[in-house]
Amino acid sequence: MGKYELPKVPYAYDALEPHIDAKTMEIHHTKHHQAYTDGLNNALATLSSEIQNMELTKLLTSLDKVPENVRGAVNFHGGGYDNHALFWNNMKPNGGGKPGGSIADAINSVFGNFDSFKEKFTKDTIAIQGSGWGWLTYNPQSKKVEYTTMPNQTSPRTKGLIPLLGLDVWEHAYYLKYQNKRADYVNAWWNVVNWDEVNTRLSKTIA
Ligand code: MN
Repeated sequence: MGKYELPKVPYAYDALEPHIDAKTMEIHHTKHHQAYTDGLNNALATLSSEIQNMELTKLLTSLDKVPENVRGAVNFHGGGYDNHALFWNNMKPNGGGKPGGSIADAINSVFGNFDSFKEKFTKDTIAIQGSGWGWLTYNPQSKKVEYTTMPNQTSPRTKGLIPLLGLDVWEHAYYLKYQNKRADYVNAWWNVVNWDEVNTRLSKTIA
């Protein structure tokens, strides 16, 4: 029994239909997220108790503390574990629309307005080569939000950025329903964004 267990999805697998289909949700959660969970536990099992006891969010910002031969596994599976836990929760049935609250102000101050932000996020996330994620993050240095893409399962935390809103564009996230049409998936995903959750993440970050 490892330290980490598969996190729950806070709604039914079919709750995001028609934008994200139930079969994709089920396989994505029970197979892919489970594999990252198992991979993280297996990698941690080879490491010191000091590293095993670190909070995952802290561990991902301090990968230099992980011995080099296991660092890639912790980056991949630890990032995958954390990214997907964030992903399930930054979506909800009947989501979407425009955000309010502090995240709206933060987005407007950097991107001018919500539509410009959405356009950049959409365009650049669709354009990710191969597997990766598009992220709205908070940069504690500049104290501003920023958009960034990350390859594979590498967490924005590895760059010192706090993930606020993530979109998984690995083919496993959309191929059953959308096949090669990643743009259709990305455009549909905006209908299930949970802006309340994003606002909560920002509040916790700047508190
Ligand atoms: Mn995924």
